[in-house]
Amino acid sequence: MFDTTLSEAVETFLESFGKALEEGDIERATGMFQDQCYWRDLVSFTWNIKTLEGKEQVADMLRQQLAATRPGGWKLASGEAPWDEDGVINAWIEFETEVARGYGLLRLKDGKIWTLLTTMVELKGHEEPKGFARPLGAKHGVGKNRETWREEREREEAELGYKTQPYCVIVGGGQGGIGLAARLRQLSVPTIVLEKNERPGDSWRKRYKSLCLHDPVWYDHLPYIKFPETWPVFSPKDKIGDWLEFYTKVMELNYWTRSTCKSASYDEERKEWRVVVDRDGEEVILRPRQLVLATGMSGKPNIPDFPGKERFRGEQHHSSQHPGPDAYSGKKCVVVGSNNSAHDIAAALWEKDAEVTMVQRSSTHVVRSDTLMEIGLGALYSEEAVRNGITTEKADLIFASIPYAILHELQIPLYEKMKERDKDFYEGLERAGFLLDWGDDGSGLFMKYLRRGSGYYIDVGASQLVIDGEIKLARGQVKEIVEDGLILEDGTKLEADLIVYATGYNSMNGWAADLIGQEVADKVGKCWGLGSNTTKDPGPWEGELRNMWKPTQQEGLWFHGGNLHQSRHYSQFLALQLKARQEGIPTPVYGLQEVHHLA
Ligand SMILES: Cc1cc2nc3c(=O)[nH]c(=O)nc-3n(C[C@H](O)[C@H](O)[C@H](O)COP(=O)(O)OP(=O)(O)OC[C@H]3O[C@@H](n4cnc5c(N)ncnc54)[C@H](O)[C@@H]3O)c2cc1C
Repeated sequence: MFDTTLSEAVETFLESFGKALEEGDIERATGMFQDQCYWRDLVSFTWNIKTLEGKEQVADMLRQQLAATRPGGWKLASGEAPWDEDGVINAWIEFETEVARGYGLLRLKDGKIWTLLTTMVELKGHEEPKGFARPLGAKHGVGKNRETWREEREREEAELGYKTQPYCVIVGGGQGGIGLAARLRQLSVPTIVLEKNERPGDSWRKRYKSLCLHDPVWYDHLPYIKFPETWPVFSPKDKIGDWLEFYTKVMELNYWTRSTCKSASYDEERKEWRVVVDRDGEEVILRPRQLVLATGMSGKPNIPDFPGKERFRGEQHHSSQHPGPDAYSGKKCVVVGSNNSAHDIAAALWEKDAEVTMVQRSSTHVVRSDTLMEIGLGALYSEEAVRNGITTEKADLIFASIPYAILHELQIPLYEKMKERDKDFYEGLERAGFLLDWGDDGSGLFMKYLRRGSGYYIDVGASQLVIDGEIKLARGQVKEIVEDGLILEDGTKLEADLIVYATGYNSMNGWAADLIGQEVADKVGKCWGLGSNTTKDPGPWEGELRNMWKPTQQEGLWFHGGNLHQSRHYSQFLALQLKARQEGIPTPVYGLQEVHHLA
């Protein structure tokens, strides 16, 4: 039932909020917020990805941005009724700015704003050609020598990067680069994706052969084309690879395979990049205005430099180079590390009758996959959620609407529930000597992912092998590598024919160091992490992921990536930021992040 009273109340609230903003009365507008309040803006007001915490920050942002933003048209989103959740009124809202249309989620507590999410949906006059504006495709009528769709595509492919320059170059054609390029295509931003692999999807295909996505299908859709309803819940990696390849083709991306970006430098005067590409043996120089590094958050291996590595007579490699278990049947295998990749690789080796030892160097957060699906993700990303009307787009916005400053508080009770539900499982792991944690403050997996991008295993079976002693467990730091194995700090020797370093990945600005130079990498600083002052996420509090999908300290340089959900959702805002710049729309950035850490 549509609750007209609630709808009217929210409409009235929005009207006066809109009026205060229209009149430039910042004090009145700010007075409509709770003392403890959060306004998360994805590009529409700040041309940044920014959370304002508390009234003073809200007022400061408005003082700087309001005049240029000129917001208006605040109303309940069409077809959506507000709802009451334990005394908090939630409402989907629409608004406009001088240059864009926006959508958001408002939460009112005691008649004042507790949280506000404002997102940019489209730039006025630069809408995607969809729905009623869908392209015709066919060219009805007649014309001499006119080009077919295919001829046009072939010409575009032949000319772009040679006769004409792309506005944007994306380095890295994994799911991140592909999804962003699809959005830019719809916005008519000439873009080339550079990918050093042979085929789109290879970044997944080349990972260890047992890998399946750890996240369920509802979380994993790409922009524009959803997986079919018959798609498996957890996609095998090669299937995702094939999907990405198909997607690249049907979304008509200018995707250069076997093309390695060798280096890039920014010409401050011309305001353009000089990007040196090795395209299948031919050197090509591209001159885009914008350069996006979508080279993978899990792409720059962190390979530990243990003393004695050169002495080892067996085989040793990082988890990203691990081919799978087939060659190691009957062999002694040591996996250094105890997070996702370590568990997946160890279990697959065990399946091939290898003798496997996992070296746990520090505590790990473990959650069983079905428990995580049910308690952690189910309300937003599941078949049930879909049936309850929570589309992927809505789920993404609901997720985005919860400020990072309080997300952990909402996560803690979920993980307490999980702990209780799987009590026996955790006792078993502890009995086996496995060192568990739940994040520094008990807030579990997603917060660990946001804060440090590591430190967890989503259990799909390997934990039982640890509990049963089928995967042997050793604990401690590695002291040195010897000819036939490794030695831990307590003197324990582990014999090995194979050592896998499942030791994770480094910050994405390392890619900037490789391609552009250390100076620029230092200028933009560390990527990822919130400044939560927890393990591997040093303060000060920054409130948003560092450098991701938003302007950096280096003009024209952007970072894109993350898991499938983040790549899908945030590519929208990155694409709009790039489109606005291409069109010369003023994009005054509020609160450009400062650099507190170099890596
Ligand atoms: C083992 C593992 C399991 C994961 N499981 C999940 C999961 O279940 N769900 C999920 O959402 N996420 C998962 N992730 C995280 C994330 O989604 C993936 O890492 C994903 O591949 C990231 O996509 P990306 O496009 O950002 O980067 P990548 O897929 O790493 O793509 C980067 C691309 O850049 C290319 N490249 C790098 N340098 C250059 C250069 N100089 N020139 C040209 N090309 C270059 C690389 O060849 C690569 O193809 C997992 C990650 C790992 C490692």
